[in-house]
Amino acid sequence: MSRRPSWLPAPPPAGARTRRPVLPQNPGGLGLASDRARASMIESLRRIGVRDAQVLDALSQVPRHAFIDAALASRAYEDVALPIGHGQTISKPSTVARMIELVAQSLPPSRRAAAQVLEIGTGCGYQAAVLARVFGQVVSVERVRGLHEQARNNLRAMRLANLRLVFGDGHLGVAQAAPFDAIVMAAAGEAIPDALLEQMRVGARLIAPIGTTRQALHLVERVEREQWQVTVLDAVRFVPLRTGTS
Ligand code: SAH
Repeated sequence: MSRRPSWLPAPPPAGARTRRPVLPQNPGGLGLASDRARASMIESLRRIGVRDAQVLDALSQVPRHAFIDAALASRAYEDVALPIGHGQTISKPSTVARMIELVAQSLPPSRRAAAQVLEIGTGCGYQAAVLARVFGQVVSVERVRGLHEQARNNLRAMRLANLRLVFGDGHLGVAQAAPFDAIVMAAAGEAIPDALLEQMRVGARLIAPIGTTRQALHLVERVEREQWQVTVLDAVRFVPLRTGTS
């Protein structure tokens, strides 16, 4: 069964190399149809319990199809992780929504515009774009040079002046931009790196998948200068947090 929605242009001829959906002559048409696909994704997110209006609004504004390969664009608004090259994946929209909602909960909407947020694992840049539509300042770190550059290209058209992309090992955090009001990890380690715990502001939240073969989301809150409270949440499946850069 073909799942290619009517708003997508025809696939490129065999042998042609394109990374982006080829825009048709009436890009407004593509825009309207992808807006509809995104609106139905938002409805599904509401149905599974995502409530935060700013998070839903941000997800409704970021064109997920612009962050993945043209060959996969027809699946952009399904709730699935998709390959983005270099053995990595773009996270499922429901996971992106859940993680951002969990860290945002400690920040009332009025404080979000002044919040400083760190993402570890930029990948294609999708979640970074959503974060930048919810919070005041976002820094996102990626350890694979090719993905860091791919994210930069994907994000250019969105002109998010409050989003900074950093190439490096996320284990170290970004000391120059700390302390953070929220930290979101998009790759699973065996433990939360100490530098990230230290770069949380008191009262800040960090959300991270932890584990190897079995993983679970861990929500960490820095309740006092020397005290972090951890809550173990849903079982998840993320790519591994690796050391160093490549
Ligand atoms: N945030 C992405 C998900 C990317 S997948 C989204 O919007 O869907 C996770 C990413 O984490 C991969 O790109 C991987 O290269 C990166 N990663 C793994 N270990 C890392 C580390 N130590 N520092 C920074 N990025 C890392």
